[in-house]
Amino acid sequence: MMNRSRIEYCNFSWNPVTGCRHSCPYCYAAKQAKRLSGDVRVNKGSNQLRKDENGLYILDNPFRNQSGKVIPDPVGFEPVMHRYRLEMPAQKKKPANIFVCSMADLFGVWVPDSWIDTSEPARHGAHFEEGRKNNDFKDFKKREEYHGKQECF
Ligand code: SF4
Repeated sequence: MMNRSRIEYCNFSWNPVTGCRHSCPYCYAAKQAKRLSGDVRVNKGSNQLRKDENGLYILDNPFRNQSGKVIPDPVGFEPVMHRYRLEMPAQKKKPANIFVCSMADLFGVWVPDSWIDTSEPARHGAHFEEGRKNNDFKDFKKREEYHGKQECF
């Protein structure tokens, strides 16, 4: 399930990737991730997390602590691919404006192309009645070289 967004032009936020390495001192998302991380040192030892060939974290299922509570950001603001979130846009019953990666820079230099390529088809999974608006995805690209090359809101 996607989180409802408080941003006026978005209905939901969708975070198949979380984390960012820009380390902006004013970052709200980093503070949120820290608040929702639980014990990062303990979490990193869990076999729920695995690493890809780049040494980046992958979660195939929601991370749960020892009490069974879901921990959204078990490694704080380090980059994570949440594979179990990929199907979420396709599960929407009605078209929506979806903020992509409010808790990450999806196009940061550390993000492998495979993560971006994996999240792209997930955007096209929902099929609504012919003639109805489809989901609208809002991407916010923070790297200058992307600006002007791809749609940027
Ligand atoms: S998510 Fe945005 S504000 Fe936060 S560290 Fe990355 S670029 Fe900076």
